[in-house]
Parts: sequence; structure tokens; C-alpha cells
Amino acid sequence: MLELRPNCEYCDKDLPPSASDARICTYECTFCSNCVETILSNGPVG
Ligand SMILES: [Zn+2]
Repeated sequence: MLELRPNCEYCDKDLPPSASDARICTYECTFCSNCVETILSNGPVG
């Protein structure tokens, strides 16, 4: 079973399950809203 990661995959920001700024991508990875904006601006990571 996949587990939700408690930190942003990109900047390691703490993302508690109740965090309103947590974003989950299609592949079950977790990013904070700031990194989502960065990623969306710069293209997909990797
Ligand atoms: Zn982040």
C-alpha cells in the first residue's frame, strides 16, 4: 500500500495530513503549493 509522504518531495517542507497547502500529484508524490507553482512554471521535475 502506498503511503502519503509527510514532506514536500521538492523542498522537504513539512506537510501534515491536514495541511491545506499540500498537493498530491498523479504518482502519489507530495508537493507544497509553492513548489507546485514552481514546478508548473518550470515544467515537470525530472
Ligand atoms: Zn515544496
